[in-house]
Amino acid sequence: MGELVLDALGKRFGASVAVERVDLEVPQGQMVALLGPSGCGKTTTLRMVAGFVPPSAGRVLIAGKDVTRAPPHARDTGMVFQSYALFPHMSVAENVAFGLEMRRVGRADRDARTREALRLVRLEGLEDRLPRQLSGGQQQRVALARALVVNPAVFLLDEPLSNLDAKLRGEVRMEIRALQQRLGLTTLIVTHDQEEALTMADRLVVMERGRVRQVGTAEDLYERPADPFVAGFVGRCNLLEGALEAPGRFRAAGGEVLPCAAGPAPGGRSVLALRPEHIRIAPSTDGPARLRAATYLGAQTEYHAELGGTPLVVVRPTPGAEDPLRRILPGDAVSLSWDPSAARLLPAAPHDERGA
Ligand code: ATP
Repeated sequence: MGELVLDALGKRFGASVAVERVDLEVPQGQMVALLGPSGCGKTTTLRMVAGFVPPSAGRVLIAGKDVTRAPPHARDTGMVFQSYALFPHMSVAENVAFGLEMRRVGRADRDARTREALRLVRLEGLEDRLPRQLSGGQQQRVALARALVVNPAVFLLDEPLSNLDAKLRGEVRMEIRALQQRLGLTTLIVTHDQEEALTMADRLVVMERGRVRQVGTAEDLYERPADPFVAGFVGRCNLLEGALEAPGRFRAAGGEVLPCAAGPAPGGRSVLALRPEHIRIAPSTDGPARLRAATYLGAQTEYHAELGGTPLVVVRPTPGAEDPLRRILPGDAVSLSWDPSAARLLPAAPHDERGA
């Protein structure tokens, strides 16, 4: 069994469902990310694990123990808040030692563990500063040390990098991941930033409107998305509605027939998912597709094309100066092609789940 287990965990606020029956196991030493758009229920899920929000249904188990009704301080969790929530009038060392004091750890042990936690996050020498005398990145590391120092069974991170600038975010992301792996911390992290989730976590949980859509590694989600929502949320994806007409032939809603993976039996509405980098584009004198726009992005170029009534985004390495593709203009005819196996058929969303 996982070190952290969510068993049919749900939360309603009045009549509205914030989290609907989430089942999840986080094995010892793994980092799992809850990922999804704003309002999908990821923060509420994390807060139920931490003990700040009482679940309406289901259970939370930590190290095999049912803690569903236990208060936060009795749960063996360490949490890093988005805002850091440092005590402004306490020094760095006092902030870090606070949890140990609450647990009545003796002075000598407390000092040694505080020193060790500060060393782990590379804050030695700043013990006596107040939080306001630190940079954002340093404050973030105090929050990490404060959560680490109690040696929790489960480490909880709520959007821990969202208050850092882009450059620092990349560095801190790697630091947290290295620390988590070195110490073997069982970790649940909430983020809406897919790059953060993809680079840090062993497994990702994609949520939408209170439900888990898919759980998997970054590769699973990117290469084998379960549905159009996951395909569109993790990385970019062309999602074309239509139906499989015959094995390997997909008829898009616009009428064009597109090659696709063999797929299940023909018939019924489905969605064709095609990643922009899997489409080849070439100038053509009479190609069936038209270029609408091309955007130079340095190493890559993004093309917006239209095949009949179907818009397609294509991303390719920027062609060399001699390549005729370099000189195509909006309105020009182009040919588009792809390996049929790169065009995956996904189930169309049921009607009641669309829009919103
Ligand atoms: P964000 O990324 O914006 O923080 P989230 O995925 O973390 O979003 P939650 O904060 O978990 O989403 O919210 C899930 C749903 O529950 C939302 O519709 C939200 O409005 C609702 N909700 C959250 N907390 C409360 C509350 N205390 N009272 C009523 N509704 C709430």
